[in-house]
Amino acid sequence: MQQASIDKEEHNRRQAELFNKKTKDFSAPLPPEITERQQRIVDVVPDLGPGSRVMDVGSGTGCLIPHMHQTGIQDILAVDLAEDLLAKAREQYGTSSTLGNDHGFRTWVGDVESVPAYQGPFDVAFFNAVFGNVYDQREALLRTSLLLRPGGHIVISHPLGRAWHERLREGDAEIVPHALPDRPTLERLITDLPLRLRSFQDDPDLYLTLLQACASPVPPAYLIQGRPLELEGEVVAGFGRGSSRMGVPTANIAPGPLAAKLEGLPLGVYFGWAQLDAGPEQPEEDSAVHKMAMNIGRRPSIEDGTDITVEVHILHSFAASDFRGRQLRVVVGGFIRPEMRFGSLDELIARIKSDVGIAKAQLDLPEHQLCKAHEMFVR
Ligand code: ADP
Ligand code: MG
Repeated sequence: MQQASIDKEEHNRRQAELFNKKTKDFSAPLPPEITERQQRIVDVVPDLGPGSRVMDVGSGTGCLIPHMHQTGIQDILAVDLAEDLLAKAREQYGTSSTLGNDHGFRTWVGDVESVPAYQGPFDVAFFNAVFGNVYDQREALLRTSLLLRPGGHIVISHPLGRAWHERLREGDAEIVPHALPDRPTLERLITDLPLRLRSFQDDPDLYLTLLQACASPVPPAYLIQGRPLELEGEVVAGFGRGSSRMGVPTANIAPGPLAAKLEGLPLGVYFGWAQLDAGPEQPEEDSAVHKMAMNIGRRPSIEDGTDITVEVHILHSFAASDFRGRQLRVVVGGFIRPEMRFGSLDELIARIKSDVGIAKAQLDLPEHQLCKAHEMFVR
């Protein structure tokens, strides 16, 4: 999905450079037939009103904003790579205070992947006339889905239609690297994302797709069906960064003997239960079954190799600070999110903390409590 020739920073730099120059063009009023479609784009989302928090991706000078106001929406984060376009939008729609959680118009210069979690959670994110321009469409949807409240929506739209957009792309494939996805492509794009396709309109003069985030942070498709996945092995040394650099120790299980079980598993973060053989000299509680969050992956945010590691953070405070060499058993209840690359260590840590929070809450649900008594665990 992403372009091989240039990296994301260069792609974003070119977008910003080009669109900053278009501030004047984008400030001209739109013809009425277009503004009518823009209103339809906003109105496709159910239940929006004065209480809604909205992200407008590729907002530009803010052509969707008056339509949001029409629907009663006040709390809007306009996201764009082009600073000059956002400055124009601020001039027109800016409110006196844009601090904290005040309902108002705020702007964020950068791509959608850089929007921090504290700006959300959003009821809806609009990608109007911009989805063909993003560096990586799947990554943009994944990041956005993590910024939505459960049940929130994503709208992908273009008020001039898919064919018009395709001609634009033929004219400059560097600035517009992707097509607007047809239905099968879109379905493929979201297969492993916590999103569902709610409606899809592909008319000559209007492209309008509505996606919805699953109601639970762990969508039904992410739950391990049938027999839960069981893993067992020796705790081995990792790279020694879990506790020291991130404040989240992860007991690494030797992945070699698990190869057959790991085969074909999606890479990313899972939740479930863990039991350590802490040893008879340790408090009994340390050998009990505890909640855990586990990463199976290549750690793309940290450059130290591409081998797959299995790392388990156990939600328990152990008497022994180091239990490498001990046996660890885990039973996996479900998947939290696919593997993704973060822009900084702080961003990764923030995400790990929210993954741990999701794991903790999920495991309180009755169906996951049952797994705590799994036959694999020793009593
Ligand atoms: P490494 O890179 O060697 O895995 P970490 O910094 O990730 O080191 O720390 C992991 C080690 O910390 C584990 O192997 C274990 O010995 C210890 N540890 C202590 N408490 C926990 C915990 N709650 N969850 C996981 N590991 C823990
Ligand atoms: Mg570790």
